[in-house]
Amino acid sequence: RVKGKWATTQPKSPPTSLALQYMDATYSLQLGQQWPSVRVSLLCEKKYGALLNNFSHESALADLQAQGCMDFIGHTDQDAQPFLDEASGGEPEGSMEQEISSSVSLNKSDSVDEELSPLQLSPNIKCLVFPRGDITRFKAARPDGFGLLSYYLMDAASVLPCLALNVQQGDSVLDLCAAPGGKTLALLQTQTIRFLCVNDASVSRTMRLRKVLHSYIPKELLTNDRIRITSFDGTKWGEIERNTFDRVLVDVPCTTDRHSLMEDDNNIFKKSRTSERRQLPQLQTELLLAGVEAACPGGEIVYSTCSLSQLQNQCVVEQAIHLARERHGIHLQVVSLRPLTHTFRKTFHFAPDLHLGEMVLPHLAANFGPIYMCKLRRLN
Ligand code: SAM
Repeated sequence: RVKGKWATTQPKSPPTSLALQYMDATYSLQLGQQWPSVRVSLLCEKKYGALLNNFSHESALADLQAQGCMDFIGHTDQDAQPFLDEASGGEPEGSMEQEISSSVSLNKSDSVDEELSPLQLSPNIKCLVFPRGDITRFKAARPDGFGLLSYYLMDAASVLPCLALNVQQGDSVLDLCAAPGGKTLALLQTQTIRFLCVNDASVSRTMRLRKVLHSYIPKELLTNDRIRITSFDGTKWGEIERNTFDRVLVDVPCTTDRHSLMEDDNNIFKKSRTSERRQLPQLQTELLLAGVEAACPGGEIVYSTCSLSQLQNQCVVEQAIHLARERHGIHLQVVSLRPLTHTFRKTFHFAPDLHLGEMVLPHLAANFGPIYMCKLRRLN
């Protein structure tokens, strides 16, 4: 009897199955022959990276290296050199700070103006990963004598949008959809930000973000003149603050493909959330537009998702570029992230030939992502 009641309250199709059906239908068209391999990777255990916390008094670097991990940002392979040389006119690769500059305009898409410009990697962001094919799990980080944790476990591919943002000394930065705070922590590791504004519309998630910040960043650096934590609807940001920030990260809510395939709880493919899911591209476009308005002229914006969906990725960026011009007279340039993907091609499996932006595809030997990112620069 109990069994019978249980059976009737179970949804006929759990959200994870609905998610798989949806992805099979759409991503098989989008990714073609690559979909079966991406699919199996998405259904397997994901791989983490350990973002090193420079503010902890006990560095975990030596310990993690002794376990076989390697900082994928500092330790880029020598094979990257020919590309660096070609693009930078023969400049040797710096030990940590790499700069790839060129006036070459890439012609990936007819509808957007794309430019290949300098890539500098902050020497302070370190993210350790186990080698390709090694699926060892990280131990939980332990607090130091001051209660600060020495590393934060996150999808290592999530660090890429932060690297793409290329924060410079003295920049003011807006992280528009920031909770639970993995990317905020990565941005703070650069130690170059003059003022950071972190926002998330969800009050409960903003509380989680505060806890994360307090577990990693010393109190004296969390003062109001350095960091502002808010819980506004990001789509309304243009009404609050326009033409202000040097850098804006717009890491939008999306179908979180990996989560949607693995967890029935809080799953956006639940029948009751269908309309919310269908409205995602619209919400994402509004958030990106608000981020563009919040940036100063000349400022740079990185848009990112953890979905493979073209509708939530390239289509959103295209629409935002169009609307920024139509509604606000703001002209945007797409900044190529090819130097970044080339540099990290041994750590991540990138989608080949995306017409706009770059994407980390999950792969069994490097089961990170999916992460889509596209970088824009405000021209006026
Ligand atoms: N950047 C975060 C990190 O690295 O930990 C992850 C952000 S998550 C992909 C997207 C976030 O957007 C969620 O925390 C969600 O609460 C927030 N969000 C949803 N709608 C929003 C809105 N209208 N304005 C601002 N944030 C929003």
